[in-house]
Amino acid sequence: MTEIKLHNTYTQRIEPLKPINTDGVVRMYCCGPTVYNYAHIGNLRTYIFEDVLRKSIIRAGLKIRHVMNITDVGHLTSDADSGDDKMLLAAEKEKKSVLEIARKYEDKFFEHTKALNIARPDIVCRATEHIADMIKFVEKLEEKGYAYFQNGNVYFDTSKFKDYGRLSGQNRKDLRHGARVEEDSNKRNPSDFVLWFTTSKFKDQILQWDSKWGRGYPGWHIECSTMSIKHLGERLDIHCGGVDHIAVHHENEIAQSEAFLGHKWCNMWLHGEFLQMKNDEKMSKSKGNFITLDTLIEKGYSPLAYRYLVLTSHYRAPLVFSYENLDAAASAYNKLKNKYAEFASDSGEPISDNAQKLYESLVDEFNGYLLNDLKTSQALALLWKVVKSKDLPSSLKVKFMDNADEIFALDLSKAEDKRQTALTDEISALIEERKQARLNKDWQKSDEIRDLLDKKGVIIKDLPMGEVEISFK
Ligand code: AMP
Ligand code: ZN
Repeated sequence: MTEIKLHNTYTQRIEPLKPINTDGVVRMYCCGPTVYNYAHIGNLRTYIFEDVLRKSIIRAGLKIRHVMNITDVGHLTSDADSGDDKMLLAAEKEKKSVLEIARKYEDKFFEHTKALNIARPDIVCRATEHIADMIKFVEKLEEKGYAYFQNGNVYFDTSKFKDYGRLSGQNRKDLRHGARVEEDSNKRNPSDFVLWFTTSKFKDQILQWDSKWGRGYPGWHIECSTMSIKHLGERLDIHCGGVDHIAVHHENEIAQSEAFLGHKWCNMWLHGEFLQMKNDEKMSKSKGNFITLDTLIEKGYSPLAYRYLVLTSHYRAPLVFSYENLDAAASAYNKLKNKYAEFASDSGEPISDNAQKLYESLVDEFNGYLLNDLKTSQALALLWKVVKSKDLPSSLKVKFMDNADEIFALDLSKAEDKRQTALTDEISALIEERKQARLNKDWQKSDEIRDLLDKKGVIIKDLPMGEVEISFK
């Protein structure tokens, strides 16, 4: 077993990961997607980081139990307790039920993560299937004096939790002026947050459950505390998410969980930086300035070229997305695959002792980068050094690449991506031609092209706002 060191947001230090529980299994909880829309490639960057983390923990010789939630209850348009219900807005727009929306985007999420070779967490849990547990959780917080009922909602009293704000380094009083927490006259303190709503602000709030406080629905933060403790127990090794979750969501999770348990809950907090657009803007679902994996596929990119791009940056550094960057990544990725094929077809020269020793030291160096806070860009640079090396025979290069690919998961040994094969220039051109026909309201032509694509094994589904969803037979 080798030690793995990771940056802990809570302490602001790089620390060795030491499993807390006596069985030695690392318990990891990652905040999952809100399923009222597609996960965008920014969200997917965070899930790629978490996948590299999971694979690196396994590389360090540790066992892991990895849990992720699906936020399929109503979700507000802001992190605070205000705004519209995003799920309801999507249901109205797409003329579907709220649960149909949730399942549709959950399925899409797993289709995308699969295409990116992101391993499915050991347990995936839906918020709507844990409402009774959440109610019990809130009842206990109330019994312990951490929650209060005011004007139909149950609030968490942050003044009762002395460490509130520690993760983000914010003082509780500073939050008074914080832009992200909206004024609510029912709150005793500005940083208090809702645990259970019964006074729905939304017309036709659909997903509601009975509780001792009345019919209603849970606040967003309570789902992660409840499901994490239910599936991973009282002591968590790692909790992950994107940096946007630090200040409100994760701060609130800590307050609830530690108030509920009466002791420290999670040891290490890891946060992935944003994928940004060129103009410094965060890619965001609610702003609507986002790109999905389907868009990249439609443009002819392999999903794994995007994974390659993500690996070129460190997870704690922002990554700027542009098609020029993606083109460069796709070209390097293809070269890497071609090199693999070239080395694998080489009849082979004998492996000298020196070459064997060199190979072993390079593997150690590679592991060293990953096990020291997931330095993927350095590990990738080393992979290129191996590819270009004059001191290693092809067989050891292939062995090194296979070993690296256990973590990179770029399918280096596979000939060509199936999706990419399906999206030939001809098919991309047909999709584009159909888009134009639809813009010109030439429905007959649009249908003809759809039938033609269908014959070629490509299924096109039209979405509102002129978007299309592409799948393969
Ligand atoms: P959501 O579905 O919006 O709750 O987000 C799912 C995950 O993606 C969370 O861990 C977020 O912190 C993360 N995330 C949101 N926006 C971005 C972005 N632009 N870049 C990277 N990660 C993001
Ligand atoms: Zn969460």
